[in-house]
Amino acid sequence: MPLTAYSASREMELDVDQLLTHLAHQSQHPQLPSNVAIPDAWKLAIAQDISCPSCFCQGAEVVRGTAAGAKNKRQAFFRFTTGGGNPGHHPFCDFSGNVPAGHVPENLVQFSNPKDGLSKAVRVLVCKGISLGIFHQRDIRAMREWFFHKKVGSQFVVSLDPRIVRWIAVLQRQRLWIHDGGDEALDFTPELMALPVFDAKHAARVILTNQHRALLDLLFENRIHVFQDVERITKSVEQSQSQSVFDPSILQTEFRKTLQLARFIGTSYLPISTHVKSHSWVHTPKGGRFMLAFTSLLLFVSGWDMKRAWEAFVRIAKDESAVDETLGNAIGLNPFHDFEVWPVIKFLQELPSDLLPTEKEMLEQPATLDGLVAKLRQGG
Ligand SMILES: [Zn+2]
Repeated sequence: MPLTAYSASREMELDVDQLLTHLAHQSQHPQLPSNVAIPDAWKLAIAQDISCPSCFCQGAEVVRGTAAGAKNKRQAFFRFTTGGGNPGHHPFCDFSGNVPAGHVPENLVQFSNPKDGLSKAVRVLVCKGISLGIFHQRDIRAMREWFFHKKVGSQFVVSLDPRIVRWIAVLQRQRLWIHDGGDEALDFTPELMALPVFDAKHAARVILTNQHRALLDLLFENRIHVFQDVERITKSVEQSQSQSVFDPSILQTEFRKTLQLARFIGTSYLPISTHVKSHSWVHTPKGGRFMLAFTSLLLFVSGWDMKRAWEAFVRIAKDESAVDETLGNAIGLNPFHDFEVWPVIKFLQELPSDLLPTEKEMLEQPATLDGLVAKLRQGG
């Protein structure tokens, strides 16, 4: 259940308390104490004006937080009802299903809540961008809507056997030991394999690589390196089995531009680069997410034109006026959360079946080379 939601009439993202303050002010009503029921007219206005931050459904109700000092603390949140013409959350909405109150989907970035130096520095850029009129909260909402439609329009159902991911990862890792070419001619006899001075495991690697060379070459040509990210890929496959998920390959161009802009700012703009600690910083769950949300927003309002986005960034960087931090109370979007994982999953599950391991092979090899070594020694 979202803690903040978008008010169409105010063109801004609000939490429950901010919304009730706005409504009190608008109807010249004193601030509503937490033990006083919300007037029916306000409830009606909320249902019509507030929309879900992910799927934009209406029919919002507010669930108020517990009073200060209460035993069981609960934050105020928005709930989206069904019935009365309201369909409730879209099935692909990040808040559909039984999500707990206060759940923040991993692709949404709360600019209001930076946790480290890098995300705080990005928040300043967002506030300046809004104060200079380069983008507004309504643009942030429009970008989320653009992304939601992309997501709904590009889906695939996960059917990949997670064991195949691990099998391919081990196969690719073994491949790293092999030099290219010529070793098809080598004959590994049982006598040779039994010699104590001979590394039978390496012979097993060569045989395995030769057996699956077509698959390994295809993966290499398509830059699919499963072994580098095997845990993340396997976890995503297991969690999404038989579910329809977003196929982000349609956003490759946007992803490349966003990364390029983020990396350039991250290495050349001192207020950001002083917080950059590693080469993979853009993929970190903290500051990296903030930066991708900011740079993709800059590109979005610039029609994904790199030159225009860069000019907009330079205007922000040159601005020396004081920062109004309240402007950054918005939920941004990192459309590229886990972006690398899903195209890999799709690629693997579309592999021709003759390239995939048989059930027997998955059980025997290459999770361990020992079984193959034993077979080779027996002349198998
Ligand atoms: Zn929703």
